[in-house]
Amino acid sequence: RLISLEGGEGAGKSTALASVRELLLRRGHEVVLTREPGGTPLAERIRTLLLDGRGAEDEPLLPETELLLMFAARAQHVAQVVRPALERGAFVVSDRFTDSSYAYQGHGRGLDPQWIAELERRAVGLRPGLTLLLDLDVREGRARTSGRDLWPDRIEREQDEFFERVRAGFRARAQAEPERFRVIDAARPPQAVAAAVAAAVADWLDA
Ligand code: C5P
Repeated sequence: RLISLEGGEGAGKSTALASVRELLLRRGHEVVLTREPGGTPLAERIRTLLLDGRGAEDEPLLPETELLLMFAARAQHVAQVVRPALERGAFVVSDRFTDSSYAYQGHGRGLDPQWIAELERRAVGLRPGLTLLLDLDVREGRARTSGRDLWPDRIEREQDEFFERVRAGFRARAQAEPERFRVIDAARPPQAVAAAVAAAVADWLDA
């Protein structure tokens, strides 16, 4: 009953998330909407640390530090929010989950996937039953988020190759686990993406 939404910047995850929530509520389920990195007060503080750390001029955030902070946040999130909700029978819909670490810190930053798998085993211990990958051309995604001001300019201009590796990483994971993943073409307008996502969830629920 854990559903994760993955994808690059500007793919329309927020709109899609809302439509998944609506669908599950309509069917009478309890829904817990959450996000990563974050999802608990402490994990949200780690998120802030990550976002601020990335912009720091004097001390760049090491890829290793980034990975460990992601999993520090995820361990809290799973223990405090995800597991308790699943145990009482709720659906948990997470804006990003462990696949993001494989894609961003693994494929993107070049960290050893076996290390990530080890952290996943020890600190997470569960995988979503359904993962929706919103797949979008890197340049299109960046054009959509350029107004959002999420990151300092320097980071905004981070090389396209990084995001290309992240996208390829997500797609490779989807190919490796086709029964868990649904790949959604996110080049359409947000409402159309949200509708496709809701249809995929409905399909999965009815299977
Ligand atoms: O999805 P959202 O916009 O909340 O993600 C915040 C940022 O964190 C994204 O820009 C993404 O690049 C980054 N991120 C990351 N590694 C993760 C998860 C998110 O670099 N494992």
